[in-house]
Amino acid sequence: MTVRIGVIGGGQLARMMIAPAVELGLEPRVLAEESGMAASLAAVAVGDYHDEETVLAFAREVDVLTFDHEHVPQPVLRALVAAGVAVHPGPDALQYAQDKLLMRAKLADLGLPQPDWAAVTRADDLQAFLDGHGGRAVVKTPRGGYDGKGVRVVSAAVEAADWFAALSEDANGGALLVEELVDFRRELAQQVARRPSGEIAVYPVVETVQRDGVCAEVVAPAPGAVGRVADEARRVGVAVAEGLGVTGMLAVELFETSDERLLVNELAMRPHNSGHWTQDGVITGQFEQHLRAVADLPLGSTEPTAAWSVMINILGGPADAAMTDRLVAAMAEHPRAKIHTYGKAPRPGRKVGHVTVAAAELDDAAYEARAAAAAFD
Ligand code: ADP
Repeated sequence: MTVRIGVIGGGQLARMMIAPAVELGLEPRVLAEESGMAASLAAVAVGDYHDEETVLAFAREVDVLTFDHEHVPQPVLRALVAAGVAVHPGPDALQYAQDKLLMRAKLADLGLPQPDWAAVTRADDLQAFLDGHGGRAVVKTPRGGYDGKGVRVVSAAVEAADWFAALSEDANGGALLVEELVDFRRELAQQVARRPSGEIAVYPVVETVQRDGVCAEVVAPAPGAVGRVADEARRVGVAVAEGLGVTGMLAVELFETSDERLLVNELAMRPHNSGHWTQDGVITGQFEQHLRAVADLPLGSTEPTAAWSVMINILGGPADAAMTDRLVAAMAEHPRAKIHTYGKAPRPGRKVGHVTVAAAELDDAAYEARAAAAAFD
């Protein structure tokens, strides 16, 4: 029996599901926002994922529906479920990756560790939070943020005046999320896969390095994260997956404080940039694992194949658009590097590919991965 997997969204995450889907004998189909996107290598329909009819028509041709992003509106997701479509992750879980205020409230219910936070609808409320938290805090728009957009460090309520104004124009009302400014030592990410039947597979916790709000580098496993930190990351990851009923891949972004507490920053319910290293550094990569999980097939081993892996994002790409030349040069000079390109046109700050090196020594993996990625500068 061939399972047809429909992926909503045509970006690089959908693209990277294609090869493992083919290997597993699954049939990937993509609903892309426009033609010529990164995932255009699979059978592609082009259409607007906000439109219920478009998504329902796409869903009729597949056995399981999943996502490359979390932006499909709740009413569309609910209509799919009502029509009997197998949607993974389902709307009840996905809402917590779509709305950071819902996520904070749910994590509080579950008693999981997170920064101090509040929902604020007025500048006065924000000022009160600031006054109670040392005069600085992080304000976030609950929905639609990514790569640091929709996140702002403020030391006075007036610095969020434009966002409050936008709230008052929003017919649904709504609120902003304010969080304590965490003095973190580093950022970690914990990935977990969960099947509808409940089986769970846990990946090693990794360190993520962000530059300008964008993930630049991942070191796996997170150096020194043995014993307590790794156990706590695993506990939190599993508790989120089970408590929220996540199906498919889950990434829990964490802050590690200087006193070794872990606090949940945010969630992604799909393959995630922090897990790209698993393609080349773990027996079962996250894209294959996501497919297994959403199709409710047995999960694969999450055991690393080398002591260390380092993943570097290729951001922006070559200014002269000579991607192919750079790729050939990187391949020639760095035969141990696993180079992934997304078929996207170079543009400042855009993620156009990544490089992973797995090695016995962290220094070797980091040096080789950075050198290969630098070939694209
Ligand atoms: P996005 O949805 O855009 O990825 P995040 O909520 O992950 O936004 O925030 C982006 C970055 O901002 C984080 O990776 C972290 O570096 C910083 N940040 C977010 N929240 C806090 C916080 N409460 N304290 C300190 N830094 C934060």
